Amino acid sequence: MRIQLLPSTFDDKGQATLDQRLTCFLIDDRVAVDAGSLAIALTNEQRSRVRDIIVTHPHMDHIASLPIFIDDLYPTLKEPMRIHATQEVIGLLERDVFNWNVYPRFSDLKNDYGPVMEYVPIPLGQPFTVAHLTVTAVPVNHIVPTVGLIVSDGERSVAFSSDTAQTEEFWKLLNETQHIDALLIEASFPDRLAKLAEVSRHFTPASLRQELKKLNHNGLDILAVHIKPAYREEIIQQLEALQIPNLGVMEPGKTYQW
Ligand SMILES: [Zn+2]
Ligand SMILES: [Zn+2]
Repeated sequence: MRIQLLPSTFDDKGQATLDQRLTCFLIDDRVAVDAGSLAIALTNEQRSRVRDIIVTHPHMDHIASLPIFIDDLYPTLKEPMRIHATQEVIGLLERDVFNWNVYPRFSDLKNDYGPVMEYVPIPLGQPFTVAHLTVTAVPVNHIVPTVGLIVSDGERSVAFSSDTAQTEEFWKLLNETQHIDALLIEASFPDRLAKLAEVSRHFTPASLRQELKKLNHNGLDILAVHIKPAYREEIIQQLEALQIPNLGVMEPGKTYQW
């Protein structure tokens, strides 16, 4: 499985910077998990292939360019863009984003080939199929309804925490899964902002360390994501100080393979 954390910002030479402002993972150039930078960071080849987007929750950093992505492809879509999300999240997207005020309600619109956007409600705790992948979603602990995921291509499995604070079901799902190759987990705030992390339901390096004690798997790659750019250096130093084997920081723009 190939996974890229799409860049959110580019330097003066057009190269992806290490700062992650938006969240969007691209799997095998075909399926997106969240859509923060989906419209701004794909190659044309990738843009022509992505037709399935899993939305973990409706926060702006995870959906910022979702409407623009569909808008861009509107005249050429020969199949609808499928938005996989819980019924709750679908309701929030319809109410707050695709509401004719912020953006058109694409789920009501057709181009020359048919509907341009379709919601696919996802179950909790039960595997479902997205393109060539099998996905299981469970609720995590964030301030809006949010899911964490395990995604498998039949050979390899990767877990995505999405945005969360201390949680239980996600770890239970991981521990029940026979083999996990990688865990992409959030580390949003430095330890000195533990209060803010708590009220906004995010991890700090210290709370992440506590959480990882719930994980029974050894040897998997653990990559920290969702590091707020304002505190990036500080968070990375604190993550390194934890001295957790195989814990690294995921680099936007780089393709990882498991
Ligand atoms: Zn969030
Ligand atoms: Zn977020």
